[in-house]
Order: sequence, then C-alpha cells, then structure tokens
Amino acid sequence: MAEIPASFLESDELTLRKSFIGLDEQDSFLLQTSLPRQDALLESLATTLEKHLSRFEEAHCFIDDSEVSQLLQREQLAYFRTLFQGPHDEVFFQKRYLVGQRHHEIGLKPAWYIGAFCHYMTGILQKIHQDHQQDALQRILAFVKMSLFDISLTTEAYFRAEHEQLTLLSKVFQDNIEGVFITDTAGIIQHANKMSGRLVGIPPNLLLGIPFTELIANTDLPPLFISDDNAHDDQEQWQGEIELNRAGGVPFPAKVTIMFMDALHDTNRQRVIEFTDITESKRNQAELAAKTEELSRSNRDLEQFAYIASHDLQEPLRMVASYTQLLARRYQGKLDADADEFISYAVDGAERMQQLINDLLTFSRIGTRGSIHKPVDIEFILSRALFNLKNAIDETQAHITHDPLPHIPGDTTQLIQLFQNLIGNAIKFRNQDPVQIHIANRDKGKYWLFSVRDNGIGIPPEFAQQIFAIFQRLHSRQKYPGTGIGLALCKKIVERHNGQIWVEPSPEGSGSLFQFTLSKENAS
Ligand code: ADP
Repeated sequence: MAEIPASFLESDELTLRKSFIGLDEQDSFLLQTSLPRQDALLESLATTLEKHLSRFEEAHCFIDDSEVSQLLQREQLAYFRTLFQGPHDEVFFQKRYLVGQRHHEIGLKPAWYIGAFCHYMTGILQKIHQDHQQDALQRILAFVKMSLFDISLTTEAYFRAEHEQLTLLSKVFQDNIEGVFITDTAGIIQHANKMSGRLVGIPPNLLLGIPFTELIANTDLPPLFISDDNAHDDQEQWQGEIELNRAGGVPFPAKVTIMFMDALHDTNRQRVIEFTDITESKRNQAELAAKTEELSRSNRDLEQFAYIASHDLQEPLRMVASYTQLLARRYQGKLDADADEFISYAVDGAERMQQLINDLLTFSRIGTRGSIHKPVDIEFILSRALFNLKNAIDETQAHITHDPLPHIPGDTTQLIQLFQNLIGNAIKFRNQDPVQIHIANRDKGKYWLFSVRDNGIGIPPEFAQQIFAIFQRLHSRQKYPGTGIGLALCKKIVERHNGQIWVEPSPEGSGSLFQFTLSKENAS
C-alpha cells in the first residue's frame, strides 16, 4: 500500500463515514464498469471547468493563467478516471481529503467546487443512463454515493484548514503585543485582545459593549470617530496620539492606528484600533530634547567663552609678541648665545599663540553669524581661496584644476575659508611628487557634492574621523606646522550649510579625497 500522507482522517472515522453513506465493494465494482467509454465526453466535460469557474470573479486569478487552467483540466480528467476505476482504498480517500486542504490554500471555495462537481455529474449521469438501460439506477446510485463521499471529504478538509487558520489568526490577535479593539459601525467594542485589557486596566471581556470613545481621556476624538458617514471613504486609516483612560490610574498617552476593515456589508463598517502605551518613549523623547537643549546651551556657552577668551587674549598677547620681537630686534647678537636662543623661543611661542588665538576666534564665530540666504558663486569663492593661497601655490607650483562650479546659498567668508583650508592642507601635506589637486562637484538633487582630491601623503583610514575634531593632528609641528583647528572649522562651516564632510583615500592611489555636501536650500 502506498504511503498515507501525514495530514489525513483517522482510518476508523473514514470507515464509519463510508458506512453512513452505505458505500461498499458492490458500489466500487459498479463504478469500475460504468466509466463512459468515450474519452471525448470526459474531455469535453473537463474543458467546461473554465466556463464554470469564470462565473466567479475571484476564480479569474487561476483560469486567466492558461497554464494553470490546462493543468486543472488535466487533473480533472485523471480524477474522473480514478473516481470510477479506483482502487477505492484508503490512499484514494486520503488524497481526496488533501485536495480539500489544497483548495483552501489556493482559495478555491467549496461552493465553486461543488458547483463544478454537479455540473460534471449531470453530464456523466446522463451518459450512464443511456449506456446501461437495465441497471442504470444502481450505477447512478453508486456514483452519487461516491460523489457525496468525495464532496464531504474535500469540504471537511477545507473547513478544518479554515478553522486552523482562524485559530491561528485569533491567537495572533489575542497575543498581539499591541492593544487591539475591533468595533462595530457605531464604535462599540466587539473584540478586545489581552494586551488591550492590560493597557486600559479592564479585563477584555468587560470591555465588550463599551463605546471606544468612552476610553478616550481629555483629548479630541480621532477623525475616524467624529462622524460615522461615508465622508471617510478616502481616509481609511488614521494614525496619531491620543490619551486613553486607565481604570484606577491616570490616563496614558497612546499611539493609535485606526482603520476601517473591508466591509462585508455596506451597513457594517467595522474599525480596527491598534494602540500602544507611549508613556516611556515620550519620557525618553522629553529627556532627549532636554539634554539636546542643555548640550546646545553649553555649546553656546563654550563658544561664547572661546570667543571672549580669544578676543580678550589678543590684546595682551599682541603686547607680548611685539615686545619680544622688539627684544629680538634690539638685542640679537648683543647678549650671549643662550639669550639669543631664549628670545627666539619667546618670539616663536608668541607667534604661535597668536595664530592659535586667531584660529580659535574664527572657529568660535562660525555659529554666531546670521542666517545664510544669499546665493554665492562657488567659482568666485574658489578664486578668492586660491588668491589667499597664492604664495604656497607659487612656491610648490601646485597644479590645481576644477569642474565648473555652481551657485549656492551660503556665507561667502565661511565658504572661502572652507576651500582655503582644504586646498591649503592639500598643499601642506604633499609628498615629493609635483602637487596635483582637483576640485570636483556633482549635482545630487537636493544638494551638491564637492570633493578636493590631492596626491599628498594621505590619511590612514583609522584617523578619518578623528582629524575633524579640534586640535587633532597626526604629525609633529616641526614636520608640518599648524594648530589642528582647520578641519574642525571646515566641519563646522559645512554643518552650518546643512551638509556633511568626510575623507577617504584618494581613488587615484596616494593622497586624500575630502568630500563635502552643501545644501541647495537655505541653511540656518
Ligand atoms: P592642521 O592642518 O593645522 O594640522 P587640520 O585640522 O587642518 O589641522 O588637519 C588636522 C590633521 O589632519 C593634520 O594635522 C593632518 O595630519 C591631517 N590632514 C589634513 N588634511 C590633510 C591632507 N590633505 N593630507 C594628509 N593629511 C591631512
């Protein structure tokens, strides 16, 4: 005996059902000798399957696919033969049972299947009636019994599968981590899952029959509850925040999604309401907002401090610098060698401090300037930056090329500074090769992407983030002079123009590729 599939009816149950219908060996024998001999008749019946199914709009998805429709017809034909010829053993019936499950999977409803069956029966029974005049009734009865048995198995399997599916869906509904209500047209709760009960502090069975709007605390009614007419046709779903009452407690903020279910009847427009308690996330949000505010306030304070400190330090430092320079000029070579050395250290120190303070002052001023709204020509910006770098460019004979550059809303002084710092670095951090720098730009829709590519010493990828922090340098001052503020300044300028800046190794081999975006919209 062939293997019996896993999902099937108990053998005893099968035998019992056969006995209810009175299907026995005699019927099998009669059926085996009743199969209409002309294949053409069966084939023509099988081809009418499509006609039968096409009456149901939902069935079009199978029959419109000619491959599926032909397969169905072939299977139908094979089925006619086994239905008559058997063997009518357990495997045969279990297979019929599986067919019902399959119908459920593909959505072939019992009504369509039974309709098709009756359609075939009519054709086949007429034929049996013609071919077997003497004992037609016995044969027809055997066929009817077999058909009824078949239909009972397939429909049973169909509804069991349906039941399993509904059980699963109801479990999903019950165990949903969100609260879920289903209300009727009038907004009265008809179903409430476990979580909904937990959230509102009322057992789910006691929530049934309560209008959902009664659970709403002081907030306005959600739009899908304001009136119950067809005005919501084009607004089938609403999402928002409302306050819900909690029995014996304070109301809680809830994130709610309300949608109309596909109505089975026009008069019954049920709503599904899903909700979660967002007290926690609101608290986190508020904490985050407070922290962000605190951070930006302390940033503002720091900027203010850096500004005042560097600004106020300028004056005394100017004094120190000019007097040490005076000392150097007047006493160079007149005291001993140690004195010359000490004076030159003092002069150098004062100059460096002046540079540092100037850079710091520029850095602290970036965020304090007014909003950016005037379009500026980046070609002009670049030419000014190159002009400011003229000495370094001439000295190194740097070869600088660029793409055509656009106009964007921005702060002229800051953008000059940005290009100047990046190109200045590209020259400063050169190697022994002739300096080659290219400034490219690409339109990215809402923003422009700029890049400054050099063929210098490059930046190890592990330092790609670090170098944008203030005072971060990768080399000694003796090897490459600088204060470590340049890139921090670039970052601040780019961010103020709603952009981002980063560095990658140059795709050309040695060197770096600095890229940054600048928004086409007004930055603030
Ligand atoms: P500074 O140039 O004053 O040192 P920056 O903030 O401009 O400060 O740069 C920080 C560090 O990043 C530099 O000290 C250098 O190590 C590295 N750097 C910046 N630009 C380049 C570049 N084009 N090529 C290689 N290294 C660079």
